[in-house]
Amino acid sequence: MHVVVVGGGIVGLSCAYSLAERGVRVTLCEQGRLGGESTQRAAGGIRTQFSTRVNVDLSLASLDVWADFEGTFGVDIGHRRTGYLLLAREASTAANLREDVSLQNERGGESRYLDPAQATDLAAGIHDEPFVAAAYSPLDGFADPNLATQGYVQALDRRNVELRTRTPVTDVLLDGNGAVRAVETPDERIPADAVVDAAGAWAGRLAAMVDVDLPIVPRRRRVLVVEPELPVPEDAPLVIDLDTGLYFRPERAGDALVGGHFGGADPVQNPDDYDEEPGLDWTLRALERASEWTDYFGDRTRVKRGWAGLYAVTPDHHPVVEEVVPGFVVAAGFSGHGFQHAPATGRIVAEIACDGKASLVDIDPLRSRRFETDDGLRDERNVA
Ligand SMILES: Cc1cc2nc3c(=O)[nH]c(=O)nc-3n(C[C@H](O)[C@H](O)[C@H](O)COP(=O)(O)OP(=O)(O)OC[C@H]3O[C@@H](n4cnc5c(N)ncnc54)[C@H](O)[C@@H]3O)c2cc1C
Repeated sequence: MHVVVVGGGIVGLSCAYSLAERGVRVTLCEQGRLGGESTQRAAGGIRTQFSTRVNVDLSLASLDVWADFEGTFGVDIGHRRTGYLLLAREASTAANLREDVSLQNERGGESRYLDPAQATDLAAGIHDEPFVAAAYSPLDGFADPNLATQGYVQALDRRNVELRTRTPVTDVLLDGNGAVRAVETPDERIPADAVVDAAGAWAGRLAAMVDVDLPIVPRRRRVLVVEPELPVPEDAPLVIDLDTGLYFRPERAGDALVGGHFGGADPVQNPDDYDEEPGLDWTLRALERASEWTDYFGDRTRVKRGWAGLYAVTPDHHPVVEEVVPGFVVAAGFSGHGFQHAPATGRIVAEIACDGKASLVDIDPLRSRRFETDDGLRDERNVA
């Protein structure tokens, strides 16, 4: 069997890796640079604290790969398990957190529901007044997406996976029975028994080549690296203020990574041409919000750099992972959690291609037809 993976971000790399592990011949086509799009712009967060069964399961099924990444791939990705602390201002958000914690614990997570004083004990420098409740999981943390890309690429090289950069896939060809038979690039036609759509923010365009309409749209999200007035300890958790959307986590040497989406206009972007700068208004708003309930981000905080990237967003903030046409497998629409869910996704895609169905996680909720029916997935509410 020969599989063409389209997209050389973390999801495509992980799919190629798991397919190669199963003995499949793989060619990966990337229109630009490996890991050069959403993946390199991610904050690197890895957490188990989601609000739906399938997202929690994707996290738990990815954790062992992150935990032993260096052992498997030989690259230290700076994986630090300092935990995620989710903070609630509203009673309704607190009630949701309580429900989420029980779901996570049922599935094998280790999150705890906390009162504000317990939360601020866990994270020095946070004020407890605006908050009514919190949740914390020690399993959560973050890693460096660029180093993870490097780890996967080296492993693919060792397995002789053909990595073609600067190779856009311009069409996907089907046979008379409607099954995948080849992809086209500007230079050639590559025969394929299966194609994986791991094209991130471009995934909808790729699916349209086989006449499948996917509601995956690119939306802009931003982060800053700042030198705070007071250094953020390296062992501090990633903290999310759920009701305003602001989050921050320690970077290196006291620096912090600050991000979030604060509501308001959120237009669909053109992935080939969008503003990659965070913008002054958003930067000031992010720092102002962060200074309201922490000791760190006072007037002497300095912005070192910042950027904007794209989330590939679906209406319910869950991906589509499904063989939508015989031989055409979609793994896209991760809505801001594709970095952390990449390891499980790769394994699942390999199962679909090799075994005809997924067994690692029950991915039935991730079918594309959910958007047309009333029995779809509940929205993932813990998206920052
Ligand atoms: C600011 C920000 C913060 C984030 N923080 C986190 C976080 O903390 N944790 C987390 O889990 N996720 C986070 N994310 C989300 C994460 O970045 C994405 O979910 C993840 O990188 C998706 O990986 P991907 O491989 O699907 O997409 P990408 O990395 O975008 O890769 C898709 C690739 O497909 C290629 N491609 C597209 N069309 C074609 C074609 N026709 N032919 C060939 N190649 C093609 C593109 O060039 C691209 O390289 C964040 C995102 C942003 C923007």
